[in-house]
Amino acid sequence: MVKPSELCGRLKGIMEEKGLDALLISKIENVRYLTGFTGTSGFVLVREDNALFITDPRYTQQAKRECEGWEVFELKGKRLSQWMAETIAPKRLGVEQWLTLGSLERMKEHLKDTVFVVVFDVVENMRVSKTEDELKMIKEALRIAEESFKELLSLVKPGVSERDLALELEWLMRKKGAEAVSFSIIVASGARSALPHGVASGKVIEPEELVLFDFGCVHRGYCSDITRVVKLGKVSREEKRVWQAVVDASRAAVEAIENGERSCSRVHKTAEEVLSKYGYNEYFGHGLGHGVGLEIHEKPSLSLLSEDSLVDGCVFTVEPGVYLPGRFGIRIEDMFYLKGDLVRLTSLHSEIIEL
Ligand code: ZN
Ligand code: ZN
Repeated sequence: MVKPSELCGRLKGIMEEKGLDALLISKIENVRYLTGFTGTSGFVLVREDNALFITDPRYTQQAKRECEGWEVFELKGKRLSQWMAETIAPKRLGVEQWLTLGSLERMKEHLKDTVFVVVFDVVENMRVSKTEDELKMIKEALRIAEESFKELLSLVKPGVSERDLALELEWLMRKKGAEAVSFSIIVASGARSALPHGVASGKVIEPEELVLFDFGCVHRGYCSDITRVVKLGKVSREEKRVWQAVVDASRAAVEAIENGERSCSRVHKTAEEVLSKYGYNEYFGHGLGHGVGLEIHEKPSLSLLSEDSLVDGCVFTVEPGVYLPGRFGIRIEDMFYLKGDLVRLTSLHSEIIEL
């Protein structure tokens, strides 16, 4: 949570620079981050010297309980834009890049003389560096996911479908206190493991197949994200080589960061170079990693095109993968926390798990 007065202070620069007399925060994760509100409908309206939380009658009681230090304004029988037109009538209103074109058109019906100015990532940039409390919640989401995965392993055997394993894993995580899965669980077996986003299907697992699991859960709003690979039988020489390439790429990225590299695109390149040496570069098509927090994918983005930097307090994944079309794929994904030193948050070992 951020105090309203502190928020005004932090956004003063951008509001002055863009000449805004008000700034509307509408993306719900950003609203939650600022106010602590866990409902699904609410806004933060920032002006030069105050910031207000706005919701409708469904959420007023909840907001008063959750949004400590915030003035809660109940919007009743009116659209937000109508209320703004009648009260503050902003000349230049900042909106986030997430506002839909449809919402913007609707707002213009009431705010006819207002100039709308899109601002990018104002709250996302504040969210990059995690507080101790946020870190605790991420660690708990990770702990639940890891414990659940360990329990799931006894059920991974030939004849079981990917979908059943995904459901079991979700069930285990929910039973241990997760609010939700942080994304649709990926269980991809055999040739399907070469699909980087092979969401669990009805396919039944066969003997001697590799099975890739990419999963995570949500604890008090915060996400976890892990990828591990299981082999039903003995790991082949080629599978071992691909795994080694992936692990070496991950290690090289980690070492670069430990040696002070902070450019996300250069960290990505470091990992890619290792895969090139193994001849697997063309089989790695996604970014090396991403920030994790209230959203499963957030800043910083570790990819070739990213302009982000790693900053103190950020939590992110490193997840190189090699996908041999029609054959198999291996990805290992770990979570890290940067605070002076780089701390690996994931505690599961990275070896292919032979069952
Ligand atoms: Zn993942
Ligand atoms: Zn990920």
